[in-house]
Amino acid sequence: MKLGKKISEGKTKIVYESDNPNEVILEFKDDITAGDGLKHDIIKDKGYLNAAISAEFFRILNKKGIPTHFIEFTPPRFMKVKSLVMLPVEVVCRRIAAGHLLKRLPIKAGTNFKPGLVELYYKDDEHHDPMINEDHIRILNLGTVDEAREIKEITVKVSDALAEYLTSYGIVLADLKIEFGRDKNNNLVVGDEINGDSCRLWDEKIEGKIYDKDVYRKGAPLNKVKDTYIELYKMLLKKDPKLG
Ligand code: 5GP
Repeated sequence: MKLGKKISEGKTKIVYESDNPNEVILEFKDDITAGDGLKHDIIKDKGYLNAAISAEFFRILNKKGIPTHFIEFTPPRFMKVKSLVMLPVEVVCRRIAAGHLLKRLPIKAGTNFKPGLVELYYKDDEHHDPMINEDHIRILNLGTVDEAREIKEITVKVSDALAEYLTSYGIVLADLKIEFGRDKNNNLVVGDEINGDSCRLWDEKIEGKIYDKDVYRKGAPLNKVKDTYIELYKMLLKKDPKLG
């Protein structure tokens, strides 16, 4: 895979040009962050583990006919994807009440939502990523109200598809966060990454056993965090990761 010019760099990924103007290459970094980037560490191989898990999740979604940017995974940490103009919006789908929702509303932890509860957040550090609705999407010139509804519908499909897949591995998808972009034809496409950094993944049988970034958010030592990502990789890919 030939890396072109660096286009941008975020907390966990670098975007490069490729030899095709409609495609870009993502490099998954070993950085792990939480709390608006206030907590930051490096965990060797984390980029590889997350790239591989993301690729697996995107393969499932592509097979279901859900539009995603994923084209190809090149181990250890590169992913070829369709070039998108990303929307500065995070879309969360909650299947089970957890996390920030419990701080905002009088909802009991563990409450099940069917269909999933979808929330939109505007990515803006200065304003701490405020929650927005379909009208804000229109007012911020990010899309029409119908497109905002389409984003929510696709998000529920993503959540249902991944939940069905994960349950066959004994994992419960409690919630997830995804991001959307527009392709060259202006279609809405699921972009960014989906893995243990952006989902809550719980063991179906062992109460309190989690396979996602909450382990890091809650302050576990970095070797335990890495073990969690390795465990998730092994469960989903049914092989040992080739750690560097
Ligand atoms: P909460 O709003 O409860 O903090 O998070 C809901 C879900 O969205 C969780 O699965 C969490 O991992 C994901 N999420 C929320 N905000 C972010 C973010 O800024 N980055 C990532 N990677 N995931 C997020």
